[in-house]
Amino acid sequence: MSETIDTDLRRVILQSLESWHASGITHLTSIPVPNASVETPRTAPQESSTETTPDMAKKPAAAKPSTQIDQAAQTAAAEQAELRSQKKPLSRDQRITELQVLSQTVAKCTRCTELAKTRTQTVFGVGNPEARLVFIGEAPGADEDAQGEPFVGRAGQLLNKIIEAMKLTREEIYICNILRCRPPGNRLPAPEEAGHCREYLDGQLGIVKPEYIVCWGSCASQNLLGTTDTIGKLRGRFFQYGEAKVLCTYHPSYLLRNPAAKKDVWEDMKILMKEMGLPLE
Ligand code: SF4
Repeated sequence: MSETIDTDLRRVILQSLESWHASGITHLTSIPVPNASVETPRTAPQESSTETTPDMAKKPAAAKPSTQIDQAAQTAAAEQAELRSQKKPLSRDQRITELQVLSQTVAKCTRCTELAKTRTQTVFGVGNPEARLVFIGEAPGADEDAQGEPFVGRAGQLLNKIIEAMKLTREEIYICNILRCRPPGNRLPAPEEAGHCREYLDGQLGIVKPEYIVCWGSCASQNLLGTTDTIGKLRGRFFQYGEAKVLCTYHPSYLLRNPAAKKDVWEDMKILMKEMGLPLE
């Protein structure tokens, strides 16, 4: 009998410790139970830790503080879950911090063995952490690899002109790529490399939470939307990705080789500007 009580008591204490730990309490001056040893729980914490179990009802002295603290723990856990699921918008400072943390993880990433060996540095992404509009390109080129910023070479300069024509600034937009490391010789990203880097892209999009995304070129479009359709088929209309509307168009480096396609890109930008409520003139 006493062994059963000890076992029950130990379980109640462990539940309380787990709840206090979840609510941020890491130190206690005393534990109100003699001969109680802290053990590593063998089972995962219960989700509904505020429910009073029959065992807890036998020991009101332990149940009362546990219930109070469990309520605080439940509130804290709910807030964390809400933040994680991104239902509650992050503040600007929170977004900056989360992007910095993710960027530090990316800087150490070696998932793509070849790219990790040949890159000068990772190219994470730049711009407004609260941007309504995110631009996604393919992968860093030589200039981006050297400078650590996406779209800074000749294609980037053309992109800047497009942004200017839209009466926006680069600082208002968030810019990143499918890959965060330069493929040697500017070859196309391999599907497995895009797969490796997808978690980081989704992480950035989850933090910035744009209303609109422009995929520049077929690599960005096909990888983000999971399609093999050509850019010619994809451009000129919106797709949905999460809560964002996605527009696909030609990559600026394609426009450098095929200037005639600039008018098509401008038509796409006008569709986007109209949808975003930006002035067209
Ligand atoms: S491309 Fe992305 S997944 Fe691959 S090594 Fe670079 S950061 Fe990691």
